Amino acid sequence: KDVVAEVPVAVERAASSVKISSADRIIFPEDGITKGQLADYYADVAGILLPFAANRPISLVRCPQGRAKQCFFQKHDAGSFGKQVHQVDIREKDGSTEPYLYVDDADGLAACVQMGTIEFHGWGSLVGDVEKPDRLVFDLDPDEGLGFDEVKRAAIDIKTQLADLGLTSFAMLSGGKGVHVVVPLTPVAQWPAVKSFADRFCRALAANEPERYVATMSKAKRKGRIFLDWLRNQRGSTAVLPYVARARPGAPVAAPVSWTELKDIDTPARWSVRDAAELIERANGRGLAGWGAARQVLPDL
Ligand code: ATP
Ligand code: MN
Ligand code: MN
Repeated sequence: KDVVAEVPVAVERAASSVKISSADRIIFPEDGITKGQLADYYADVAGILLPFAANRPISLVRCPQGRAKQCFFQKHDAGSFGKQVHQVDIREKDGSTEPYLYVDDADGLAACVQMGTIEFHGWGSLVGDVEKPDRLVFDLDPDEGLGFDEVKRAAIDIKTQLADLGLTSFAMLSGGKGVHVVVPLTPVAQWPAVKSFADRFCRALAANEPERYVATMSKAKRKGRIFLDWLRNQRGSTAVLPYVARARPGAPVAAPVSWTELKDIDTPARWSVRDAAELIERANGRGLAGWGAARQVLPDL
């Protein structure tokens, strides 16, 4: 033991058991970012990402030839990802069970990147009890042409209304066009109750301010409005996880922000995979202390 302890360690993070092939392949062509750089990003942020992504059924956005070529969502796999990526059997609507993917460490993330994964999306529940959500996500989707100021105003609105119901919520830049408002939950209620809450909450907002919000999927009704996408909150739905890279130009990442700093941010793509060091520093700083954590249950409405 003592001998091992004296060996100087040159690496800054645990060596991965996953070998990244074609590490020089450029997968963000607009930005010249390679598969190896994406793997490094995920290895760097694993410590701040895994508290949100570990032990949760996930869907992957895989773009084996890079983000500009064909990408696809994947939630099942026959085992080609290797032993670092785990499977949990989940009951389907028809009564059969299907194995869903999950990871629990940095090697799991790396194995997914090795398979061409850019994005990690997660269920709102953990593999230990998939029937009881541990978070709600309100996904704010602005109509094209709507400014980010409007999205921020909507997010803050939702936070305020949730607070009126006794619920603490947190803001995350999606890395795309919107903001996600995340409500951590102690997992006691089951999906139907949680979905129903999200549905009624968003419909009430839209009924109250129909010129700003719409709570139905219809594209036509979205004109100039923000779609309050409560459908992320049904069993089997996913939302992009914190610190995940997006398969979009600029290699932006989904980024937790404090409500205070959100006011001064002018784009949901504020940080990118080039910003691992800053993201880690931020995550460990005062502004984001406790982000995404709250012991609370939904009120009876
Ligand atoms: P943006 O801010 O640009 O809307 P987003 O991540 O919120 O980024 P959405 O299109 O609003 O993107 O989708 C919300 C979530 O729904 C995604 O994060 C993803 O988890 C899930 N989702 C979207 N499209 C699909 C799909 N085709 N298959 C599976 N899940 C999807
Ligand atoms: Mn969205
Ligand atoms: Mn959406």
